[in-house]
Amino acid sequence: MTAVNPETEFAPMARPSPHQARPELRDLTLAELEAAVNQCGERSFRARQIMAWLWKRGADSFAAMHDLPAALRATLAARFTIGTPEVAYAARATDGTRKLLLALADGERIESVIIPAGDRVTLCVSSQAGCAMGCEFCATARMGLRRNLGAGEILGQIVAARRYLDPGETLTNYVFMGMGEPLANYSRLGPALAAMTAAWGMGVSPRRITVSTVGLVPAMERLLADFEVNLAVSLHATTDAVRDRIAPINRRFPLAELIGACARLPLKRRRRITFEYVMLAGVNDGDDDARRLVRMLAPIRAKVNLIMFNPFAGASFAPSSRARVEGFQAILHQGNLTATIRESRGRDIAAACGQLYAERAEAGAATNSGSARA
Ligand code: SF4
Repeated sequence: MTAVNPETEFAPMARPSPHQARPELRDLTLAELEAAVNQCGERSFRARQIMAWLWKRGADSFAAMHDLPAALRATLAARFTIGTPEVAYAARATDGTRKLLLALADGERIESVIIPAGDRVTLCVSSQAGCAMGCEFCATARMGLRRNLGAGEILGQIVAARRYLDPGETLTNYVFMGMGEPLANYSRLGPALAAMTAAWGMGVSPRRITVSTVGLVPAMERLLADFEVNLAVSLHATTDAVRDRIAPINRRFPLAELIGACARLPLKRRRRITFEYVMLAGVNDGDDDARRLVRMLAPIRAKVNLIMFNPFAGASFAPSSRARVEGFQAILHQGNLTATIRESRGRDIAAACGQLYAERAEAGAATNSGSARA
């Protein structure tokens, strides 16, 4: 399954961030936790017991882990901390989408979104506070990159979101499409995916996890070598001139390089790469774009997600009309390319990436009263 062992491959995370006196327990890989319990004079199986408490039962204190020896709990509590991101603000849309603004230990804020649809409940997860990629159609890009999230902060979003589920609801799918470029933070994303998919962790099938990238080619190849997750590529343009403008990473990895790398990726049977394409009126939504897209993706097992643009304050684009999106989709279908239209979810709660952060920051500045609590 994996070309490398995620338990040993990734850099150790058991070191405190500058704002924490003790390292975060949720950052530890299984191997690191085993070493820590061994240092406490306990056998390695205790590490799996602790992981089960963290990821299967959602424990957020050592006191809750009542089947561990008291001495081990006390020693670990003196050495580590367990932090769950605090929900600073939560909003619920009329379509059931719930957007959470989470406060991290150092005051940084990130977004996670719970999206129910049919029998699925998907969690959209952030990988960074802000983002350095500078995509022109994205509200998060306006923040710039504030910092990478730790593995524990990535996973903590799942723990926090579980507490906002409706009775009987369970998270079924996970998409790394929140704030940040996940593959720019691969040294933390890797351990987080390991904990999500391992039997000792959350036990989530990698088929239910999608990692989205704007096109960091070398890390894309590594991700699929390490994990059997789904890959989504944020494409958004069919010419280098347009993509250079709206997704500046294209200047580093131009379309030919990106598409060539996608064509070479070792996909498992019946897997396809999803190409995300946000429909911007008069920018990338012409019939000629649709025809180029068909030709471009012909060598790849691909499907296309056409995304209705969710405008935000100060955005320099307008959404394509519904008729235009359907016309674009029809050309893709004629070219035997599977294409779905992704409706904008949670429009009434600013659910597009980075919007809620911006709105709450503005509200905080206007009222000087900080965030409202749900
Ligand atoms: S679209 Fe994604 S990669 Fe681009 S700036 Fe926004 S968060 Fe970053």
